[in-house]
Amino acid sequence: MSTLQSWNRLPNIASDKILTLTEHAIPSQHSAPHPLLAHGNGRSYGDVCLNDKGTLLRTTALDRFISFDQRNGILRCESGVSLQSILQLVVPHGWFLSSTPGTQYATIGGALANDVHGKNHHAQGSFGHHVRAFELIRSSGEVLLCSPGRNTEMFRATVGGLGLTGLLSWIEIQLIPVNNPWMWVESHRFNNLDHFWQLNKEAEQQWPYTVAWIDCLASGNARGRGILFTGKHAANQTQLPSYKERSKRVPFDPPISLVNRLSLRSFNALYYRQPVKPQGNLCHYAPYFYPLDAIQDWNRIYGHKGFYQYQCVLPPEVAREATVQLLDAIAQSGQGSFLAVLKTFGSQAPVGMLSFARPGTTLALDFPNLGDKTLKLFNRLDAIVSEAGGALYPAKDARMPASLFQSGFPEWQRFSDFIDPAFSSHFWQRVTL
Ligand SMILES: Cc1cc2nc3c(=O)[nH]c(=O)nc-3n(C[C@H](O)[C@H](O)[C@H](O)COP(=O)(O)OP(=O)(O)OC[C@H]3O[C@@H](n4cnc5c(N)ncnc54)[C@H](O)[C@@H]3O)c2cc1C
Repeated sequence: MSTLQSWNRLPNIASDKILTLTEHAIPSQHSAPHPLLAHGNGRSYGDVCLNDKGTLLRTTALDRFISFDQRNGILRCESGVSLQSILQLVVPHGWFLSSTPGTQYATIGGALANDVHGKNHHAQGSFGHHVRAFELIRSSGEVLLCSPGRNTEMFRATVGGLGLTGLLSWIEIQLIPVNNPWMWVESHRFNNLDHFWQLNKEAEQQWPYTVAWIDCLASGNARGRGILFTGKHAANQTQLPSYKERSKRVPFDPPISLVNRLSLRSFNALYYRQPVKPQGNLCHYAPYFYPLDAIQDWNRIYGHKGFYQYQCVLPPEVAREATVQLLDAIAQSGQGSFLAVLKTFGSQAPVGMLSFARPGTTLALDFPNLGDKTLKLFNRLDAIVSEAGGALYPAKDARMPASLFQSGFPEWQRFSDFIDPAFSSHFWQRVTL
């Protein structure tokens, strides 16, 4: 029996009815028990891509390019094409994705359905801002062409619509021009959160890409210390270094998580003290945008119990105070993450009814699954996010309570009208109880 899990292996409800699609067609109830749900490459951390009660429609074989306008940077391809394949095609022609998440193994369908964001949200918005059109197949047999100006409401429901409005067959996106595959990057250390806000504000005015790593276990005057990474696509130049992709693999599941209080403290202290490069250097786009992709199966380091990611967005007016409260709660719990990312989103209005990225600040942390202890910490964090008027990211969620989803996504009931009656997911059933 083959199964599909999500990236963090939680919730532990692997779906076993899987159909790999090779054509753009929705199978009948007879050939695939309903409800249905498209599944891209399972890079979500949770159950937006899981459907234990029905059938998962695997899309990775829908991997054909349809057209590429090299003059204007417009690409149309099937929904199972990976971001990696897109980059391999377009970068040699001087184009790049307008918005990309931290993994190139996501499919374009998954990127649209979660309306993913990247390090340039403050400058370019999220993935959905660059979608020109897509085709949506509904279980009624209807085939809808959607764009910002056509079937507008279905467009807004499907971008960030968690795969619930039907099956995306193809997607057309606008790319951005680049000179070469290289990035010019700088890194700057900051001593605490106040220092972060100041550096980040300046950086956002000058750099299209910004993101900060923070030491989530540091407290007192050092609370929120970390490193700010800024980047831009490299200028046109004749002398460029050569780049050879190297990838390693985590070969087995350790019996317990390799991430624990001791390893975290040492890692965070060492990482914070790494030599920073305020003078800048060239870096190939792959290690810059996708550092974790260099270690295949890195999710195994957390052992078979899996891990959670907690990613929230906090409204701008309360972001500073709420970030302090979140970091204090995490430091006190002694649990935490070597991957703790802080980023401010730009002011663009979200495209989708359920889009997560919106004006404010986002904090994302990975936590090994320690059972009740971890869930108790999340209850404390939820209370802070809820009080701040924030939201959690469905693409990174395996446990948020229905009340937090519904307050964080006030259009959810309106969105429900656009759901395809033959589609559902474990996530949706959990948060709309
Ligand atoms: C290392 C790593 C870093 C990441 N960094 C970021 C980041 O910086 N920013 C960010 O926003 N996210 C990030 N993510 C999350 C990831 O980008 C998203 O979860 C993305 O949606 C995964 O794409 P996928 O193809 O694996 O889709 P899946 O996880 O398989 O599915 C995601 C959703 O898309 C739907 N879907 C997929 N294909 C179709 C289709 N053809 N038609 C309709 N619906 C469809 C599914 O039903 C599901 O609801 C990261 C993930 C990893 C593992």
